[in-house]
Amino acid sequence: MSKDKVYRGSCFCGAVQIEVTGEPAAMGYCHCASCRSWSAGPVNAFTLWSPSSVKATKGADQIGTYHKTDKSHRKWCKRCGGHLFTEHPLWKLTDVYAATIPELAFKPGLHVNYQESVLRIRDGLPKMKDVPKEMGGSGETLPE
Ligand SMILES: [Zn+2]
Ligand SMILES: [Zn+2]
Repeated sequence: MSKDKVYRGSCFCGAVQIEVTGEPAAMGYCHCASCRSWSAGPVNAFTLWSPSSVKATKGADQIGTYHKTDKSHRKWCKRCGGHLFTEHPLWKLTDVYAATIPELAFKPGLHVNYQESVLRIRDGLPKMKDVPKEMGGSGETLPE
């Protein structure tokens, strides 16, 4: 019996601490305009988990939520404004930003929403035009 791995993370100020257990379903980079606007960075490095794998171990009452659409419930620390994770209820997945859990070795497998990119990344990984078919996208890829 191998014990599930636990990865710890926190917001910028440390008021909120989280734990993620197991292994992510997928890792990669999102180039969509929503991620860019919310994060104020050109791309979002995502790690996707089953929602039950993600829990707040400290400061759960400090977690704020904003959802512009039902697809993405974005979470941050109300004290420092630091971003934590995004719940995707329709996909039953939670994106814990790679930067939030530095203990996890980030191994990206693909880029999504590359049609919206403002920062081309020539790393040889697949560049999905939007998202994979199984997530409701076209499944098309674009040149780097
Ligand atoms: Zn904080
Ligand atoms: Zn995005």
